[in-house]
Formats: sequence, C-alpha cells, structure tokens
Amino acid sequence: MKTLVFIQIRDDKIEENTLGILNKIKTSISGAKIIGALLGKDLKDEWIQELGLHGVQQVVTVDLPDLEFYLSATYSKTMMEIINQVNPKFVVAAGTVYGEDLIPRLAVKNASSCAQRIVDFTIEGDSLHFHTPVRDDQAMKITQVVGDIIFATSRPGAFFVDENPSGATPEIMSISVAFNDADKLVKHIEIKKAERTVNLKDAKVIVAAGRGVAGKENFQIIRELADLLGGQIGATRACTDVHWIEETYEIGQTGQSVSPDLYIAAGISGAPQHMSGVKAKTLIVINTDEGAPIINYADYAIIGDMHTILPILKEKLK
Ligand SMILES: Cc1cc2nc3c(=O)[nH]c(=O)nc-3n(C[C@H](O)[C@H](O)[C@H](O)COP(=O)(O)OP(=O)(O)OC[C@H]3O[C@@H](n4cnc5c(N)ncnc54)[C@H](O)[C@@H]3O)c2cc1C
Repeated sequence: MKTLVFIQIRDDKIEENTLGILNKIKTSISGAKIIGALLGKDLKDEWIQELGLHGVQQVVTVDLPDLEFYLSATYSKTMMEIINQVNPKFVVAAGTVYGEDLIPRLAVKNASSCAQRIVDFTIEGDSLHFHTPVRDDQAMKITQVVGDIIFATSRPGAFFVDENPSGATPEIMSISVAFNDADKLVKHIEIKKAERTVNLKDAKVIVAAGRGVAGKENFQIIRELADLLGGQIGATRACTDVHWIEETYEIGQTGQSVSPDLYIAAGISGAPQHMSGVKAKTLIVINTDEGAPIINYADYAIIGDMHTILPILKEKLK
C-alpha cells in the first residue's frame, strides 16, 4: 500500500509522533511503500537521512520560502500537488494542530474522508480499520474510510518510535509549486514560545503522582526521584485541580499524552481519563489498594504506602 506521511519538523528535529507513525506503518502494513512529504524552507539533508533510517523509501521535498511556516492554503496546495504526483492510497499525519488542520482539508479536496485521532489501525482484508477512543476514552470507535484515498491523523503519543531504526537512504524527488495571492491571505506573524513549557511528551522516564501524594510539599520526593532517574514529573488532575502542582504537569485526556520507557505511578487510581494519555513501555505502580484499576495496566505493582516506599526507592537509586 502506497502510504504518504506528512513529515513535521519541530525545534529543528523530526517530530516524535511522526516517527511513531513511520514505525507503526513499517510494522503493520507488509509491503508498504512509505513516502515522506517534507515541506519547508532550507530543508536539511540530515532529516532526509533520518527518514530513510525510519523506513521512508522516498522523500518528496518542496523547499520554498513560502513554506517556512505552516499555513493551511500553501501547505494544502503543495500536498495536493504531491498527492497528484505520487498517487498514494493512504495519507496520514500526526494529529498536531497542523496535522489536524491539513489532513481533513486534503480529504475533502479528494472527495474522501478522514479518521481523526486514531490510536491504532488494523488491516481487515483489503481495508484499514481505524481505532479512535470516544466517550471519555471509555469506548473505542472503529471506522473504515471508504474512498479512493484514505486519510487519517494519529493521536499524539499513540505510537512508539523505533529505537533502533536501520533503513536505507531514501530516493529524493524534488518538486516546486507556484503560489498566488489567494494562497497567501493568511500571513504568519510569529511563534511565541510559552515562557514555561513542560514537555512530557519526549520524556523517557516519568515519575507521576496522584491524590495519594496528599499535599503539595510531598511532590518534593517525586521530583527527587525523577531527577535521580533523569526524568520528568507528572500528575493526575486530582493534583492539579487543587494546585498541588501546576496544570502543565497534568497527564491524560485533558493533559499531555506521554509515551515514556518507564512510568512510575504513585498514588494514582488509573481512571480512564488519566490512562488514555499514558502509553509506557514499563509501568510500575505504587498503591495501597490492590484493587485499584491501574494495577490492571501495571508491569510491576507494589502494594503499599507511597510515603514509605518512595524514600526507600530513593535511597536504593542513590
Ligand atoms: C472530562 C474529564 C477529563 C479528565 N481529564 C483528566 C486528565 O487529563 N488527567 C487525569 O489525571 N484525570 C483526568 N480526569 C479526572 C479523572 O477522572 C480522575 O478523577 C483522576 O485521574 C483521579 O486522579 P487520582 O488517580 O490521582 O485520584 P484517585 O482516583 O482519588 O486515586 C487515588 C489513588 O491513590 C491511592 N492512594 C491513596 N493513598 C495512597 C498512599 N499513601 N500510597 C499509595 N497509594 C495511595 C488510592 O488507593 C487510589 O487508588 C478527567 C475527568 C473528566 C470528567
């Protein structure tokens, strides 16, 4: 299946969710031809090499001053040109603000439709079935896009990145697109970075606390453990709602989606709204209640009081 992936660059690197999609396609669609659409200004060869490593066989580059920043009209016009030239069956992007703006537009322009915020897809016969959590993540909607070209966006954090990619240098196809005044009705002004950003999405280790932490001051040990492990701290809404910790640390449906290698969850019950944002390779749970729902997700569970166990863990790690 010829699959076109919209490649997104963030902070001068290929954005993690895009790499996650490449891994998912590579491991799920046998015989997939993966084509990357790389748009921007002053595109770097190292990005192309990295895409090759992650399984992209062909990179279509469009390197133009007008593509320095994402704008709906210029990017969708360019992607339409790429679609016309490479004729993909499946077009997919990470569901960032840009991916979620671009992909549905392309679906409409191609008289097709789009599955949004997918966390998985399966191959059923000749078709793809898309899995999207609904009803506060307590149910899974399965859809199939019936159209000549299938479009989808993934939910951030849905797919793991291949840690040991081993693909080859991709073929490069460069194309150009001409824009007119109508394509430039929206002007990019600036991107203002938030003064305080907590990027949990890229954290490899997260030590997270829930209501069981029982107070603002007790986040100190959570921080110390995270520092010892070279990780970040996280929290449930039960903690951010009462201002034990800033909202930027919230993980889950309304917080950030994370996919660390290691997630230590202390005093967290495992509500669906929290767990929907957690996709960890290894989940260690510390909870006094052996019936807490989070135990069902755990690789290792320690039944006991976090206020006793965390200091022991800290000393051992030291
Ligand atoms: C629309 C909507 C969106 C939401 N979005 C989010 C979201 O993005 N993120 C999020 O986290 N929540 C979200 N929530 C809230 C969510 O439903 C839960 O209420 C919340 O996740 C519960 O947090 P908790 O696990 O810390 O608290 P609780 O559910 O109260 O669990 C506390 C746990 O700590 C254990 N415990 C208590 N004392 C100790 C101790 N001393 N040692 C060890 N364990 C102990 C208890 O056994 C219990 O399992 C959302 C809710 C709604 C309705």
